[in-house]
Amino acid sequence: MSNYQVNEKGYYGDFGGAYIPEMMFPNIEELRLRYMEIINEDSFKKEFEQLLRDYVGRPSPLYLAKRFSEKYGANIFLKREDLNHTGAHKVNNTIGQILLAKRLGKKRIIAETGAGQHGVATATVCALMGIKCVVYMGEIDIQRQAPNVARMKMMGAEVRPASSGSKTLKDATNEAMRDWINNPVDTHYIIGSVVGPHPYPDMVARFQSVISAETRKQLLEKTGRETPDYAIACVGGGSNAIGMFYHFLDDEAVQLIAAEAAGKGVDSGHSAATSVLGQEGVLHGSRTILMQTTDGQVIEPYSISAGLDYPGIGPQHAFLHKIGRAKYVSITDDEAMQAGLLLTRMEGIIPAVESAHALAQLEKMSFKPSDNVVVCLSGRGDKDLDNYMKYFNF
Ligand SMILES: *Cc1c(COP(=O)(O)O)cnc(C)c1O
Repeated sequence: MSNYQVNEKGYYGDFGGAYIPEMMFPNIEELRLRYMEIINEDSFKKEFEQLLRDYVGRPSPLYLAKRFSEKYGANIFLKREDLNHTGAHKVNNTIGQILLAKRLGKKRIIAETGAGQHGVATATVCALMGIKCVVYMGEIDIQRQAPNVARMKMMGAEVRPASSGSKTLKDATNEAMRDWINNPVDTHYIIGSVVGPHPYPDMVARFQSVISAETRKQLLEKTGRETPDYAIACVGGGSNAIGMFYHFLDDEAVQLIAAEAAGKGVDSGHSAATSVLGQEGVLHGSRTILMQTTDGQVIEPYSISAGLDYPGIGPQHAFLHKIGRAKYVSITDDEAMQAGLLLTRMEGIIPAVESAHALAQLEKMSFKPSDNVVVCLSGRGDKDLDNYMKYFNF
């Protein structure tokens, strides 16, 4: 058993657990008692693998970026999650959770979404399975993210506006939790990252771990070694990063690097660099590190990338940060946008602005020529074209 995985009580060191209203206890308890047994069933594994292959298009390629490798003086490999159906890694998790929900006998799915990416990934698998889907989204986010709202509606999901508070992600989360408390028997709540009460962080990590499982095989084929020298990924809640790190955690020689969004700068007051600015506390049902005022109010995060605009990190990341197993770095908006343009111009790949944060870290490192570096390209940049065009004045 790995030292870096969740223990029987649902904790990673001091972090994790299930800090939930008592009325949510039955829902979480059902999930906690059943999730391992279900995802270890042969029929579950078979259906999950089949859908990842035939519907999502896995395995995603591990691409040796030739020109990037020359530039940075090492072998730079990109794990191409951007080539997945729906354009990012998020679908790995929603496929896993919808199969679990079916086996739990659930007839209805709820989710919350900020930028809309997780809402789209959830609406997609609900359409695939013919299951009713309600997505909670802050009123302001609904206005800001019109294309994703349109995608969800086209897939048949109902998008319910959260109109309390700041009318953004945390208000949508509150509404989703309220819904779940009121509908404990027929509804499953699909959380989109390695956050939330136990067992969500562990469950989502297991579904996303396909990223590093494939990477090991692909590295062996391409380099003769299963492990890289470095694995780099961006962190919002942290699901693509945990997916990228998962099967390397016990290989201590692999240096794990997580890129957080510094926004306009760590000290600018417009940032989402949780590991630098955060303290220990409870967010979204688990004990973790989050950005909060001295009296415990959550600080509104900022990043140019909607997917990294989250005030916390998942509890496993809080743990890996605290014990030093993974290194957490801060990347500004400017650094990320430049890295996104550079990949586009040198490799012909437009990355999601989230993923560009991981790429920007390459600029700050020096490598040996023999180093094998894997960067998780968590998503494609089509959704960010407006963002890029405004930034660069195209
Ligand atoms: C949502 C998203 C992220 C951030 O989520 P994690 O859970 O931290 O992975 C990163 N990249 C892309 C492309 C996303 O859509």
